[in-house]
Amino acid sequence: MVTTSELGVAAGFLVGEGSFLLRRRGTIAIYATQAEREPLDRLQRMFGGRVIKIPRPDRPNVKQIWQWYMVKGAAGVLMTLYPLMRTWSPKRVGEVLRCLAAWKTSLGRGHAQLVRRECPQGHPYSAGNTYVSRKGHRHCRACGTTQRRRSDARHRRQLRAASRDPRQSDLI
Ligand SMILES: [Zn+2]
Repeated sequence: MVTTSELGVAAGFLVGEGSFLLRRRGTIAIYATQAEREPLDRLQRMFGGRVIKIPRPDRPNVKQIWQWYMVKGAAGVLMTLYPLMRTWSPKRVGEVLRCLAAWKTSLGRGHAQLVRRECPQGHPYSAGNTYVSRKGHRHCRACGTTQRRRSDARHRRQLRAASRDPRQSDLI
């Protein structure tokens, strides 16, 4: 069980040492990097995440550096901590709130897409009528067929117009 005063200490630590990032695909990551491992282990015990050794092959004389990072559950941790961060730094809280707002937006979009059962034209996203592009987006086969027919028809109209009007023959 994490006490309120422990949360306060963690919030103060992250105001000074933490980085908050919104990553692609709309997940949040929290990082804290420093030479002393113990405060990072404490964060891991409280919230989860991982503590790793940061290799510094470029500077062999530098003392060992450690990093705590958290992705899964990071948004929940920030939602818990930002009211406590406010007493230390309104500026850092602004960063956290922007991160959370962007996270909620991307979550909303992704979620709505997954739940949607029909394409914008009302065709069902059934197994037979759906194909998934390399980017992972769903596409409606019925709409794809309609689009191909339309562009074929447009092409045929252009060909007919060109054959009637010799000046347009360079359209072919
Ligand atoms: Zn469709």
